[in-house]
Amino acid sequence: MPIAFPNSLHARDVEYLLHPVTNARRHEETGPIVIDRGEGIYVYDDEGKGYIEAMAGLWSVAVGFGETRIADAARRQMARLPYYHSFSHKSNEPAILLAERLVRMTPERLTRVFFTNSGSEANDTVVKMLWYVNNARGKPEKKVILSRQNAYHGITITSGSLTGLPTNHRDFDLPNIPVRHLTCPHFWRYGQPGETEEAFTDRLVAELESVIAEVGPENIAALIGEPLMGAGGVLPPPAGYWPRVQEVLRRNDILLVADEVINGFGRIGTTFACEYYGIDADVLVLSKQLTSSYAPLAAIVFSDEIYQGIADNSAKIGTFAHGFTASGHPVSCAVALENLDVIAEKRLIETAAEKGEVLQGVLARFRDHPLVGEVRGLGLIAAVELVANKETKAKFDPVGRVGAYLFNRGHEHGVIIRAIGDQIAFCPPLIITENEIAEMVARFGRALDDTAAWVASGGLA
Ligand code: PMP
Repeated sequence: MPIAFPNSLHARDVEYLLHPVTNARRHEETGPIVIDRGEGIYVYDDEGKGYIEAMAGLWSVAVGFGETRIADAARRQMARLPYYHSFSHKSNEPAILLAERLVRMTPERLTRVFFTNSGSEANDTVVKMLWYVNNARGKPEKKVILSRQNAYHGITITSGSLTGLPTNHRDFDLPNIPVRHLTCPHFWRYGQPGETEEAFTDRLVAELESVIAEVGPENIAALIGEPLMGAGGVLPPPAGYWPRVQEVLRRNDILLVADEVINGFGRIGTTFACEYYGIDADVLVLSKQLTSSYAPLAAIVFSDEIYQGIADNSAKIGTFAHGFTASGHPVSCAVALENLDVIAEKRLIETAAEKGEVLQGVLARFRDHPLVGEVRGLGLIAAVELVANKETKAKFDPVGRVGAYLFNRGHEHGVIIRAIGDQIAFCPPLIITENEIAEMVARFGRALDDTAAWVASGGLA
């Protein structure tokens, strides 16, 4: 029997679209929520229902959903030069201005920019850049990339290999590049009974040392890491982790790639998370809040040493034969420039730390809730992890059913959160106000109480 969808748009979605990161068979039954418009921290579906976008889309819409200034900037650029490429010495003004601006914003050691369309392409590109340089320098064996379990670095074959989430590997034949995933640096979940946070950091550093010794530093190009892990569950690193990791990498001639696709531009309360954690990266990967996702764009900002290696080899073999049709797309770059102006003028980075304290403070009161194992986060990114047993931290069986229920209850209560298994993530637009934080968390609280009632009444059985 055909399923009755509210209108033909829903039926046509089900007929024609394959949705990313979606259970396709379930989607045939439920149909989509069609998001029709947005304003501030709210989005509205095609039936007029409003939702607080507690995830800023996919961790990205820093300036909120109704910044017409950015639309105007895109329109102006489209009317003047809607597209041009950057191959074979061509350039365009927005790409040049944005590259200069990013070099000035980022740490001094980072002096060059390469543009891609997405974070995944950016991380693929980083791997290719490092392999290219190492081949050119007569170190063709220096190819292995170190990553961490639960890391998210993208979804293409290479970036998906760097990602350390089994669901993104399963049945895709990943990983398929030389990568080693180290223990996830999340103390609450992966610390051993009786282990202090400092001892946990010691153990992670010892593991890094022993993997380097086993694989051989001469075979390892880089370690890639999100300073604060995002899509794996919002996982801040343990105390002292990054400076210690960095010291080991330096000593072994292994580069450090900081994937700030989520962290960058104020998310945790500093412009870049590298500042907060004291990371002196060789490569910074940026996307999402770079344009507030109003247009697709990612940027790799990297050191002069890497640039010189690429430049030398391109001169020797004739070209750096890598790039995308839309690398440095003028409209995306114009959107980024305007978005960065909005972020600066509204002081969204400066205020993120303060507002973040409010968010972390109101979420902290869920620590006593019967379903909640941990509340964690920094700045305007946070997660509430649901567990079957607060004392033992035992997960629900199966993982993800309770999270999915809560996610759907969230929709009923007018808040879009993200369920990463049973870890519920919050990453609201940076423009959110203190009152809006309170309203967002109140809506979440109602959905959580519904979920607790459902679990208590045997919903999982
Ligand atoms: N790196 C990180 C840290 C990310 O969070 C993401 C996306 N969630 C990516 C890379 C991949 O970006 P994209 O989806 O634009 O390919």
